[in-house]
Amino acid sequence: MSGLDPQDWTSMRALAHRMMDDVFDRAEQVGSGPVWQPMPQTIRDAFKRELPRQGRAAEILYGEFLEQIRPYSNGNIHPGFMGWVQGAGTPVGILAELLAASLNDNCGGRDHAAIEVERQVIRWAAEMVGMPEEASGCLVTGSSLANFISIVTASRAVDPSLRQQGVSGRKLVGYAAETAHGCVSRAFDLAGLGSDALRLIAVDELYRMDETVLAERIREDRKAGYHPFIIIGTAGSVDCGAVDPLEALADIAQRENCWFHVDGAFGAFARLSPEHAIMLDGIDRADSLALDFHKWGQVPYDAGCVLVRDRAAHAQAFSQSLSYLTRADRGLAGNAPWPCDFGPDLSRGFRALKVWMTLAHYGTDRLGEMVATCCDVARYLAERVENDARYLLMAPVALNIVCFTLVDLDDDAVDELVKDLHESGIAAPSTTRIEGRLVIRAAIVNHRTTRRTIDAMLDQIALLAEKHGS
Ligand SMILES: *Cc1c(COP(=O)(O)O)cnc(C)c1O
Repeated sequence: MSGLDPQDWTSMRALAHRMMDDVFDRAEQVGSGPVWQPMPQTIRDAFKRELPRQGRAAEILYGEFLEQIRPYSNGNIHPGFMGWVQGAGTPVGILAELLAASLNDNCGGRDHAAIEVERQVIRWAAEMVGMPEEASGCLVTGSSLANFISIVTASRAVDPSLRQQGVSGRKLVGYAAETAHGCVSRAFDLAGLGSDALRLIAVDELYRMDETVLAERIREDRKAGYHPFIIIGTAGSVDCGAVDPLEALADIAQRENCWFHVDGAFGAFARLSPEHAIMLDGIDRADSLALDFHKWGQVPYDAGCVLVRDRAAHAQAFSQSLSYLTRADRGLAGNAPWPCDFGPDLSRGFRALKVWMTLAHYGTDRLGEMVATCCDVARYLAERVENDARYLLMAPVALNIVCFTLVDLDDDAVDELVKDLHESGIAAPSTTRIEGRLVIRAAIVNHRTTRRTIDAMLDQIALLAEKHGS
């Protein structure tokens, strides 16, 4: 027997139809079961088998998927999921993943349609945030990598010889708010700049970077012989959704001859809601930008995106010329530059198809309405919290993230309450620390979360609070 295709296409096709029906039955009833449930030990143990020497029928494996995998999934397609910052996916996204897998394109480069689809998606992303049409970019796993690529590009714009010589001796430093996502300091670490080279700037009472403190710190660093090269603004902070003063940061970056990067992982999508777009003014002045289609864009995981205003600077930071990757003027090896010229990945899947189908199917007006609805649901939660003496609202609600706690509960009790809430299957917010206090954090990134979901969560919290109360 040679090759791996089935001998019996009829039964493979029947299995495929059955799967499709199950997938859409469940999509139609999403929200009817628990958000999440813990995986029993016996089922965990089913994934400790030896490497299979002999194969088993796909029908049997599908049965195992239904019994052992599907019931214990992450839960972020469920309306009750409000933890961290996670998108919920869409039926069109499910189909796009299937279609992309059927082509199995390698999108590192070369001359095929998937590359054009990705270029289309990058131009759309640039238009969404007000970057020029000639901006470059590529799809990546997520904003962690998009921020990394941006920081690497910015450092090499200072001095391209960094690529050969490393950063040794150069005292490059960058700036972000103390509330910036942890992947920013990790990017400094991975880029060889060292995480100490990222200066964390204090925030004001609205949790936005304090621009006066920033300007002062840059002055001090210059005096001490450092070379400030990048200012990183956050559009939608991960703990409470704050937006840094982007216009002011862009002005300072211009004056100080620094690269201006914006981490817009989820917040960039607020640009699609006419009511919220104004909060992100200044994002259009970014030299580079990170955003995640898999968060507020609702594209299935994973679908991060990096945009760089200056295409030449972007290519200068990553492109290589290698004999086994020669670009031709025609034939399959044509169509340069390739996505592999704009980041560290060579082999890459066809992420662009699911992004293209999502944007083209819903349109940005509808996606903007969805973003506005999420913010409205967050505001509703904040109002219920503020109008109830048992609760405390712990941070201003700028967009879609609500941090709150219960007056009578200490940190340990809140921690236990949230774990109980997860195990109840009703709702899954996460936690964070605000002013040193552990708080419940509900991020409404999920297009399925409604006011009714919020009511159900608060009812369950009230029940659990009696159990954990003093
Ligand atoms: C989620 C997030 C990140 C990290 O993005 P991933 O897609 O998880 O890698 C970075 N910054 C902010 C503000 C985020 O919300």
